[in-house]
Amino acid sequence: MTAHSSPATALPDEVRSAPLATRVLVLNSGSSSVKYQLLDMRDGSRLAAGLVERIGEETSRLKHTPLTGGESREQIAPIADHEAALKAVAAELAKDGLGLDSPELAAIGHRVVHGGQTFTDPTVIDDSVLAEIERLIPVAPLHNPANLTGIRTAMALRPDLPQVAVFDTAFHTTMPESAARYAIDVKTADEHRIRRYGFHGTSHAYVSRATAELLGKAPQDVNVIVLHLGNGASASAVRGGRCVDTSMGLTPLEGLVMGTRSGDMDPAVIFHLMRVGGMSTDEIDTLLNKKSGLIGLCGDNDMREIRRRVDEGDERARLAFDIYIHRLKKYIGAYYAVLGRVDAIAFTAGVGENAAPVREAAIAGLEELGLAVDSDLNAVRGDEPRLISPRDARVAVAVVPTDEELEIATQTYALVGESNA
Ligand code: AMP
Repeated sequence: MTAHSSPATALPDEVRSAPLATRVLVLNSGSSSVKYQLLDMRDGSRLAAGLVERIGEETSRLKHTPLTGGESREQIAPIADHEAALKAVAAELAKDGLGLDSPELAAIGHRVVHGGQTFTDPTVIDDSVLAEIERLIPVAPLHNPANLTGIRTAMALRPDLPQVAVFDTAFHTTMPESAARYAIDVKTADEHRIRRYGFHGTSHAYVSRATAELLGKAPQDVNVIVLHLGNGASASAVRGGRCVDTSMGLTPLEGLVMGTRSGDMDPAVIFHLMRVGGMSTDEIDTLLNKKSGLIGLCGDNDMREIRRRVDEGDERARLAFDIYIHRLKKYIGAYYAVLGRVDAIAFTAGVGENAAPVREAAIAGLEELGLAVDSDLNAVRGDEPRLISPRDARVAVAVVPTDEELEIATQTYALVGESNA
């Protein structure tokens, strides 16, 4: 039984009088940043949130927002490393009576980008888990080292506290081999662990479940196409709560057109750039991950700015928008075919939640598939999950705000709640 479902009256007196540990700190550690949120899992409410940026620079910035009342606090001062960053975060939390030494803190949940094929579920971190995350660095050279640094720092600060790794890849480990494997030599693929892992998994898990809830159905009864459209973007096909295909692959480069990533293209482009363009591996890596996608096509990666330029008649912005939508439509069609029956399409993340013209253009012309968008409903803004398809539509089209921190906290608490009850 988990802590949040255990009735207080069933507990022995000595346990009942102790404060119940119901808080979870969620940490998302990047190479030079740490994002955090403190949640109370009795109701999923947020107690504090913040961000440390430019770690290791002279102008490191910490922005802390207490969410139970009070103003945001910001400081710009050198923060040498992740240890100093986490200590600064702990000091800010302590000012609001939410210190990391509080007995009410149940666990720390860490976002870890790559769990390979090993981690199919959230996992309590011990030495063997750390070693396996380290072993996966070759397939996630940018992200896993930063995640590890964050975990090790947090473990040094609170060695007694359960620390849980929640993997971006885990939700996609249910993909069948037919979707997960590239059609390349099996021996070579296996030797280098080359396969499609997928990312944004906590978001796809959260949004597909929230979409079922919006429809008033159980997740196992619903087939959903989730379109996570942020600066990074990915689509997934979710059958009865389980992912059966997703657009990102070995790395987050595959799939949709993104803010700065190309998404799908003929891999021979790379050989051509090497042989004919004289470019190095690192230069091509930077080109495709940082200088392509919307920014490569039109010089902007913010959809607000692109739409503004489109409305002013800018041809480059129009072409970038059209390429973005064309790719999106291809994935909607492909995942419709993969699922066979689709109950809902859910738009989420920065672009998906906010850009009505993207939603309208992506669904336009798909009436034969039972898909349509009601322009009045599509124009409504809000923070709650909502339907934007006409009342009589065969397939629901929805806007479902994602909440990766709540998902990480929920998975973390579900795992440690047992020992906490
Ligand atoms: P995310 O990665 O989910 O934080 O999404 C960030 C992206 O969302 C930005 O780069 C913008 O392109 C897009 N975005 C955010 N707000 C809006 C908005 N109001 N309208 C259109 N696009 C938006």
